[in-house]
Amino acid sequence: QCVAVCPVGALTEKTQMDEVKEALNDPEKYVVVQVAPAVRAALGEAFEFPIGVDVEGRMAEALRRLGFDKVFDTKFGADLTIMEESNELIERLNNDGELPLITSCCPGWIKYAEHFYPDMLENISSCKSPHQMQGAIVKTYLANQEHIAKENIVMVSVMPCTAKKFEITREDECGAGVPDVDIVITTNELAQMLKDAEIQLEAMNPNSKFDLPLGFGTGAAVIFGVTGGVMEAALRTAVEKLTGKDTVLEYTDVRGMNGIKEASVDVNGTTVKVAVVSGLANANQLLTAIKNGTADYQFVEVMACPGGCVNGGGQPHQNAATRVLNDVPKMRGAALYQNDAGSAIRKSHENPVVKEVYESFLGEPGSEKAHELLHTSYQMR
Ligand code: SF4
Repeated sequence: QCVAVCPVGALTEKTQMDEVKEALNDPEKYVVVQVAPAVRAALGEAFEFPIGVDVEGRMAEALRRLGFDKVFDTKFGADLTIMEESNELIERLNNDGELPLITSCCPGWIKYAEHFYPDMLENISSCKSPHQMQGAIVKTYLANQEHIAKENIVMVSVMPCTAKKFEITREDECGAGVPDVDIVITTNELAQMLKDAEIQLEAMNPNSKFDLPLGFGTGAAVIFGVTGGVMEAALRTAVEKLTGKDTVLEYTDVRGMNGIKEASVDVNGTTVKVAVVSGLANANQLLTAIKNGTADYQFVEVMACPGGCVNGGGQPHQNAATRVLNDVPKMRGAALYQNDAGSAIRKSHENPVVKEVYESFLGEPGSEKAHELLHTSYQMR
């Protein structure tokens, strides 16, 4: 079965909804679902909620009713990403490493870089994307804890993104010996599955929670879904670690829908310059300037979709008239910033579950075990 997954209908991709249903009906399988930050800001639109309504709690309950054994939030994986990526940034800053460090959580950007910027692959963080990190921890740490054979776990990711379907097919030498993630479905496909099962999102409890422990994430993690969010989350952790001081929480210079944004951060008297780009044309412009030597940054965030994942190709599509009247990505992004502001913990390194996973399983950020499970490599194409 094929379904249109591109917002303009120009692309069709194979859907794996039937495979999810088969797994849910297979008593041998332990089926775990995780949901990316941006999904909660848009899923409601498929159920006639206004644009920009955060349906996090309702979505958690709806997924439980579909029959998943565990319902996790990719926010946990995003917090792990920040632990590893900020560690990588600090290592490169302190040891004259390859700079700028460029983020790696967008597979659209990674594939583009492998084709068009093969000479800059060393600059790209080796961190896997958050849902892959989460899958790797589910199939190792959680499998050990719950005494489940990792081969019996089916990891399903609900993503705003069609490129994530490609990402899980990449050959990866690192990992647990099984795929980190088995199936990716988009926000639109989840909406379809809920409708097929006659689960009404509006009837779900808005205060439902994700399962613990791996469903717990911070405010820093939820803003991964909007342009500038990964940078802001990383700065909250990296600057605090570098200076040893409590940092500002909100880096407003990297917020907003501009295609190219920049900011400077003082770190112990040294200025660290960062840039955020969304949309590949903007990425092209910025990377060309870096290569020409006309721009100089230490850390760069790249997202292929203008506005970031809130505007991904797997999100509900608003018609042209609605898009003229509303800045849809901005409204969805505002829902994520509100979610962050209302979070009890807003820095990734303060996530108690992340701390416990490092203490009892991974060791330190950047450890051999962390590299084995949470990092990857890229290839010239
Ligand atoms: Fe996918 Fe777009 Fe987000 Fe990149 S920016 S991860 S292509 S939704």
